Amino acid sequence: MKIKVSEIPEEGMDVDEKSVVMLDEHETEASVQLHVDKRGPQVLVQGTVAAAMTLTCSRCLNEFVQEVSMPVDLVYNPVEEMGEERGAIGEKELDMGFYREDEIDTDVIASEQLLLNVPIKVLCSEACKGICPRCGHDLNVEGCTCPADEGPSAKFDELKKYFKRNN
Ligand SMILES: [Zn+2]
Ligand SMILES: [Zn+2]
Repeated sequence: MKIKVSEIPEEGMDVDEKSVVMLDEHETEASVQLHVDKRGPQVLVQGTVAAAMTLTCSRCLNEFVQEVSMPVDLVYNPVEEMGEERGAIGEKELDMGFYREDEIDTDVIASEQLLLNVPIKVLCSEACKGICPRCGHDLNVEGCTCPADEGPSAKFDELKKYFKRNN
């Protein structure tokens, strides 16, 4: 939804909508609940963006869906005033954004907030067993027949000993 900044009423306005955003090539429906307030040329946007995001487990590489809810606390300045002296509303704790041509797009806010907050390393579950480094088998589905893992980690221990000796 696009908000005309000049049309935000004195008392502010509430946005409560579903917004479809593209996250990592997945169409994701986000529920957007925001309160939008105007302070002079600045626009304050506060609320939450929630979505069931499709994430990829960094251990087993399976996709899974996780409910996320992001608090939103943003200050938008007109892009025309970029670089000028900034206002005085405790902006240090707040994220700054810019709007142009009298317009703020809540769909963009939703996708930005969700994308910014996607953890880089996510696990489908704390107990995820991951993939066997030898045969590539998903160990959550069933165990594989590879011998107990002594290869790479044993070598790594040797290496650690080596470095200890030489330091
Ligand atoms: Zn996993
Ligand atoms: Zn294996």
